[in-house]
Amino acid sequence: MKLVILGGGESGVGAALLGQQLQYEVFLSDKGKLADVYRQALQTHRIDFEEGKHTEERIFAADLVVKSPGIPDTLPMIVALRRQGIEVISEIEFAGRHTDARMVCITGSNGKTTTTLLTHHILKTAGMDVGLAGNVGRSLAAQVAENAHPLYVVELSSFQLDGMFRFRADVAVLTNITPDHLDRYDHKFENYVASKFRILNNMRPQDLFVYGTDSEAVQQKLQTVKVVPQMAGFTYGECREKGQAGGAWMEGDEVVVRWEEKEFRIDRKEISIQGRHNVYNAMAAVLACLRLGVSSEKMAEGLRTFPQVEHRLETVRVVDGVTYVNDSKATNVDSAWYALDSMTTPVVWIAGGTDKGNDYSVLFDLVRQKVKVLICMGVDNRKLIDSFSGICPVVDTHSLPEMMAAARQYATAGDTVLLSPCCASFDLFKNYENRGELFKAAVKEL
Ligand code: ADP
Repeated sequence: MKLVILGGGESGVGAALLGQQLQYEVFLSDKGKLADVYRQALQTHRIDFEEGKHTEERIFAADLVVKSPGIPDTLPMIVALRRQGIEVISEIEFAGRHTDARMVCITGSNGKTTTTLLTHHILKTAGMDVGLAGNVGRSLAAQVAENAHPLYVVELSSFQLDGMFRFRADVAVLTNITPDHLDRYDHKFENYVASKFRILNNMRPQDLFVYGTDSEAVQQKLQTVKVVPQMAGFTYGECREKGQAGGAWMEGDEVVVRWEEKEFRIDRKEISIQGRHNVYNAMAAVLACLRLGVSSEKMAEGLRTFPQVEHRLETVRVVDGVTYVNDSKATNVDSAWYALDSMTTPVVWIAGGTDKGNDYSVLFDLVRQKVKVLICMGVDNRKLIDSFSGICPVVDTHSLPEMMAAARQYATAGDTVLLSPCCASFDLFKNYENRGELFKAAVKEL
């Protein structure tokens, strides 16, 4: 059997390793250049590959194709493969076909990585043998091949879900849905919503679906689909379980989570990560972990000891009484909303980058209440300037050093300088990690 893998990143190379172990004849093809570590891994395992091109006759000879989530389904080569009856699947789907491990799968527009890492941390704290996979951690396929665990926590993007067909989650978490990546969904929000709901595919009545009830798009879609597994919704408001087997809600400052007869309570201030969005993320993680049998004691320990996640509301340093926070991963309007919402001091807000068709009006109220000055950092800041002039003072900068100088000038003791850009990073930086790292380095030099 010939297995062709398109894309030689973490997931592609992982799929190649698993394919080889399963005795497929493996060929990996990447149109770009492979990272050294992946090229080396392929060479060490004597796996056939090419880079810088796609040789179509070899690709079309495949019995099965595993494609990287970065390659769109609409690419003519993918369309042609499917038209010829060649199955094209994702790495997660491929790995799922070769393991009996239980899967906790986490998707949503925002909060995936945090919820995935937190769930994994709590399960580890409880002493469970659990792997971390998907967009974070090592590829699921590589772990199934080399270092199998009986349980995985898997972060799934909509692109990964699009390549999944038979895969089944034992516990599925859908944090929320707001517009994102619409360029890959024919600019139709309903297509993106439908993609996220693929996480429910193949689930059985004994499985569990955890979802954010405060997300309007999730609520709306739920009225139109039949949900097979048990359901547990989480809300920042009051209990509205309505006969579900579980749920999570707020009672004053207390986060309350119930699953069947088990109830877990914790003061939100005891959770290591702060902000309303992290209350949501904690609720989702706790529901999944309660279901997997974690004790209250271990749950609380896990929530208290969870380390900060890099580039997500990460406190970098306090300089002259000013707190610098790196939220470089906030690449859409909704995530910046939650970052601003969580601020308890006046804010010098840094935003800008590549605009994804943003509608900034949802931020106006929060910006009026909390933002002292908006410092734009981007090649072209016109849209931000037009949107926020009249709402707060706006400063125009076009590089990191220029932005840092402005932040120094405007921030006074007691303020927070918040990098929560609302935009992608590609105009001035390689990616959001690079933007966050350079920001942190500049703050450390102050
Ligand atoms: P994802 O993996 O879905 O991109 P992350 O956990 O990496 O999500 O968080 C990305 C950004 O989104 C964070 O910087 C934070 O500002 C915001 N965020 C995190 N959790 C949530 C949530 N539950 N709802 C809305 N925004 C969130």
